[in-house]
Amino acid sequence: MSKKSNSIVYLVGAGPGDLGLLTVRAQERIAEADAIVYDKLANPALLEWARPDAECIYVGKCAGQHSIPQSEIQAILLKLAESGKKVVRLKGGDPFIFGRGGEEIEFLHQNEVTYEIVPGVTAALGAAAYAGIPLSHREFSSAITFLTGHEDPEKQTLQLDFRKYAQDGSTLCIYMGVGQLPRIVTELLEGGLNKDTPATIIQWATLPNQAFLDSSLGNLIKDHQASEIGAPAIIFIGQAVRYSARNNWFTARPLFGKRIVVTRTRDQAGRLSHLLTAQGADVIELPFIKVETEFDPQVVAEVFAEMAVYEWIIFTSANGVRIFFDLLLKAYPDIRCLGPMRIAAVGRATAEAIEAFNLKVDLVPQKANGDTLVNELIQNEGIESIKVLVVTGNLNRKTIVSRLEEEGCAIVDTLPLYATRQNDLKNSPEAQRYRKKGAHAILFTSASTVQSFSEQSEALKLKDGAIRPALGSIGPMTSAALKKRGMEVAYQAPESNLEHYVVETISYLNQNKTNKSKSICPTSL
Ligand code: SAH
Repeated sequence: MSKKSNSIVYLVGAGPGDLGLLTVRAQERIAEADAIVYDKLANPALLEWARPDAECIYVGKCAGQHSIPQSEIQAILLKLAESGKKVVRLKGGDPFIFGRGGEEIEFLHQNEVTYEIVPGVTAALGAAAYAGIPLSHREFSSAITFLTGHEDPEKQTLQLDFRKYAQDGSTLCIYMGVGQLPRIVTELLEGGLNKDTPATIIQWATLPNQAFLDSSLGNLIKDHQASEIGAPAIIFIGQAVRYSARNNWFTARPLFGKRIVVTRTRDQAGRLSHLLTAQGADVIELPFIKVETEFDPQVVAEVFAEMAVYEWIIFTSANGVRIFFDLLLKAYPDIRCLGPMRIAAVGRATAEAIEAFNLKVDLVPQKANGDTLVNELIQNEGIESIKVLVVTGNLNRKTIVSRLEEEGCAIVDTLPLYATRQNDLKNSPEAQRYRKKGAHAILFTSASTVQSFSEQSEALKLKDGAIRPALGSIGPMTSAALKKRGMEVAYQAPESNLEHYVVETISYLNQNKTNKSKSICPTSL
């Protein structure tokens, strides 16, 4: 059969939500794709792995509208394939489990389009693992059944006869079932399943807002009505479910159920967000400030030409490091062009960005500020005759440069490489989420983020009922900036680094913690 040249469609399982559950193959396919056709994704952050020039086509349900018909989705896939593109058809969970993957490959086959399938972690497996429910168990469960409440999310009709599945000794995993709960439960009871059979509903499984409702078959309808649990959710019924209450490793993490705002720019937010997420937090990244590369090419050329003159190079931020090496290695593709100069960095994050180039950082001051750096430089070196280059942005260079000059440095050259500007948050989806729900804490990481926050107070006004956040501060300068604007500092990191900040956040947010109830709906803690 003649296949269309070059073009290929990958049917890729996107997993249940947690990005870490995506397969390595899926990530590769997303990163290579010319076009990505996707439905509503549990985790839209997946698309950040796509090439910046990849065409991303949403074919899910829009607010108040119906989904795009399957035939239209298939026509889109065909058109993209015919134009010779590498296409990723991204589907939640696994493409072959209640995902119409079968119909799509049949269509591709008929149209002679080459395809491959990348399996994904289906919602039932993700939810069971994150809720600590062993789907099979030597004593309780020798069969696992995946069922769907309705075949077509649009139809809301029940096509299965659940009475046939009312068997003890198995675990039922029911997808798309919450809308049909009364009928499902009634039929299972009619089929002979005991009303005491443990049952649970897990919503947004594997995500920071995972919520669950532990109950029994007999009480499930009533308990569900009294809860806020809705789609997307998976229902488990069977003796194995009784394990979930003791195995709640996922929801037991210290920041689970806490919504925390991180105030950094996208590039920098990564590490702090990562540390918080690892402790279970639901992180809202509000990029109050954006960093834009901005430099005078003439100045850069002059500095690079004279590089051998400098004895010290000082970096004030990871952004400066990134842009500096980007430019340097484009101009001279050999890191040895730096010569024997020594390197100083304000702050651990800046030092780590330098170390990523396999360069040793000679001086990281005890405290992450320009004054301490100059003091330590004086102490260690004496700076009367040294020649220094300060790589920096448009904001934070004044102290270092003016102090070095005052102390009698021979040459202090400044190389400004970027500008820090305020981001307009009015239309940011993350800002919208914050306005609607609020947060348990905002983690300020610099005086400039405090300034941007207060300048954007209109765009960040909380709606009624939203949780009012505690304001955290990474260190004395950030605290001073908060106080200056009349904002109360709830806690300050004992040392100005991200690890201490996260530990302090955990201890602050858990100080009034009462015993967790077994059946909770943590989204509204
Ligand atoms: N192909 C997907 C299922 C698509 S049907 C898979 O393999 O997982 C959509 C249904 O999957 C939802 O209605 C819900 O029942 C379930 N689901 C998907 N993601 C979920 C999640 N994160 N938590 C709970 N249920 C989820």
